[in-house]
Amino acid sequence: MNYFLFVMLPGLLIGLWAQAKLHFAFGKYSQVPVASGLTGAQAARRILNHAGLNDLPVEEVPGKLSDHYDPTKRALFLSSDNYHDASIAAVGVAAHEAGHALQHQAAYAMLNLRMALVPVTQFASYAYMGILLLGLVMHMMPIALWAIVAVFSIITFFHLVTLPVEYDASARAKEQLFRLGLVRESERDGVAKVLNAAALTYVAALVSSMLTLLYYLSAARSSRS
Ligand SMILES: [Zn+2]
Repeated sequence: MNYFLFVMLPGLLIGLWAQAKLHFAFGKYSQVPVASGLTGAQAARRILNHAGLNDLPVEEVPGKLSDHYDPTKRALFLSSDNYHDASIAAVGVAAHEAGHALQHQAAYAMLNLRMALVPVTQFASYAYMGILLLGLVMHMMPIALWAIVAVFSIITFFHLVTLPVEYDASARAKEQLFRLGLVRESERDGVAKVLNAAALTYVAALVSSMLTLLYYLSAARSSRS
């Protein structure tokens, strides 16, 4: 168990660091008004309409940083703050989510792969605890450990595919924000800082999942001999 903590600690620290960085960047730039005066919802609407996605709804959801694009509903959801605020952070996040809608429209291969992996990954995440419990109860640890290695291979692969999807959505967001004149040159830096900080949390998730995979891989290998 100590070895487990030792292996997991770097992932945990990177995760905390990424979260702190996001809260700092978001906290700072949600206080900076955007010169265009557009709210997050209005900025997303402009980007979507410009791409011909006039029918794609932009809706408000409760929660903080609960913003997401739902490919199954073909709808964009913005947290209350980002929906209503006319700040650099709100417009940046809203444009990022609109970037996912643009990926979907363009049938961007990595987004399609990620969508296909969602149900598999969800099943793997649920299966993890069940396998671990079953392995302990039935004294079948070597087999259970290899099953967990398979589970974390799937989860790690999912996080790996998520990274380019997230970075690409931010790249599309920045391109549209400047092309459509929704943010000014002087605001470029703030938008980039918010989006980079958000992307870092996905890097942290990948690192943490890779470390977990490595831990179970070494545990499975040593349990055999
Ligand atoms: Zn995203």
